[in-house]
Amino acid sequence: MPRIPVVDQDACIGCEVCTQICPEVFKMEGEEGHGHDHGHKSVVYNPTGAPEAKIEEAMDNCPVACIHWQE
Ligand code: SF4
Repeated sequence: MPRIPVVDQDACIGCEVCTQICPEVFKMEGEEGHGHDHGHKSVVYNPTGAPEAKIEEAMDNCPVACIHWQE
């Protein structure tokens, strides 16, 4: 079984780093340019869309370290 990444929606600041590193797995959802810390968040839409090493690179570069492997 491949491991599944999950984004902690409460912690995500919507910086888009993970979607730039690994667009095969993460995408931004919600409105862009409205409000402050709500609405624009990363979601995992295709958890097995990239090799684990690439997903881990996104995890390592997330400024708030809110991407985890599912238990
Ligand atoms: S890198 Fe982290 S904080 Fe930035 S959009 Fe992705 S999950 Fe959210």
